Amino acid sequence: MSNSKNPGLYIHVPFCRTKCPYCDFYSATSLPLVPDWLDGLRREVLIYKDRFAAFDSLYLGGGTPTLLAGRALTTLMDGLFRHLTFSPDTEITIEANPDDITLEKLALLRDLGTNRISLGVQSFDDRELQYLGRRHTARQTEKALEWIRTSGFTNVGVDLMYGFIGQTEASWVQTMKHALDFKPEHLSCYQMTFEEGTPFGKMLAEGQIEPLGEEKERDFFLLTSRFLEEHGYLHYEISNFARSEEFFSRHNQKYWQHVPYLGLGPSAHSFQDGVRWWNHSSIRRYCQALAEGKSPVDETETLSTEQLRLESLYLGFRTRDGVSMRTLHNSSPQADQILSRLQKSGLVRVIKNRALPTREGFAVADRLPLLFSE
Ligand code: SF4
Repeated sequence: MSNSKNPGLYIHVPFCRTKCPYCDFYSATSLPLVPDWLDGLRREVLIYKDRFAAFDSLYLGGGTPTLLAGRALTTLMDGLFRHLTFSPDTEITIEANPDDITLEKLALLRDLGTNRISLGVQSFDDRELQYLGRRHTARQTEKALEWIRTSGFTNVGVDLMYGFIGQTEASWVQTMKHALDFKPEHLSCYQMTFEEGTPFGKMLAEGQIEPLGEEKERDFFLLTSRFLEEHGYLHYEISNFARSEEFFSRHNQKYWQHVPYLGLGPSAHSFQDGVRWWNHSSIRRYCQALAEGKSPVDETETLSTEQLRLESLYLGFRTRDGVSMRTLHNSSPQADQILSRLQKSGLVRVIKNRALPTREGFAVADRLPLLFSE
């Protein structure tokens, strides 16, 4: 898996029309705060004006970036391009919800330079969409995907979700098949997790719903990987698939490879030279700090060599690029013996001095680093 060493820029758009019951991303439904947030961003951009080299990825995430009106999107992009430096071939991604997609908005996004869309589809089954609290229908998604193509986008990602209550393996396969009808360049398939503080998380804690269980989760995971690889997609990170290396998410790879990135907006995280920092989550606190000429950073941590090595282990085993032998040997004096056991059980392959997780290895990726750090 190759990637440039140029930094990436993330913008957190912390607004949603309604909250989905499983989601723990920071966002609010208070749309009247959009102008204050934009003003905060304008000020925050200036703080970082000369602190990063040219960005070659820009990712508008959230929240729901596509709910912003045309004027807000234009102001946002103008501010970024005026004060920060970008490579000419920058990958510019926007996360989109099907119910926001119109031909007019797509034309504007193209004019603003967006060249990649990541569409939050989740399912093609209307009953499942309702259960997930989504605002769109399968028909709206179909229309959105048609329009995205007719508007000239040639790098389209579809986000899907599996492993929630009521979904069967058959309906999941149907959803994946339906997504493939549109030949997306990229697919992200996220397993449902029950996050503390979300409505689903509360229902789980109160015993109103039961999670799938480890075995079923594993079945869904392996089914997904097998199905998409059989249909020509590369499984390049636990939750991510692409039609070819060209379509690996350039931006997300920066997170997995410790390449510097700058995150702007409430709750956004940044990383540079072994230091990680993140902003206040509350939109009001974020805006207030910036309006008073203060930093919106909530906390900063400097990672030791040891912490960076551990992170490389965790992140590496989640990607098909795996972990270098050097990192493994630095992690454990028993590295060779552990590796040989993992190879025998079919969880890892060793190629060109790297330990690469197999599909079965991906299924237990979070446990593999533990073996080397005991
Ligand atoms: S899943 Fe997306 S649309 Fe739903 S609340 Fe989370 S960020 Fe908003």
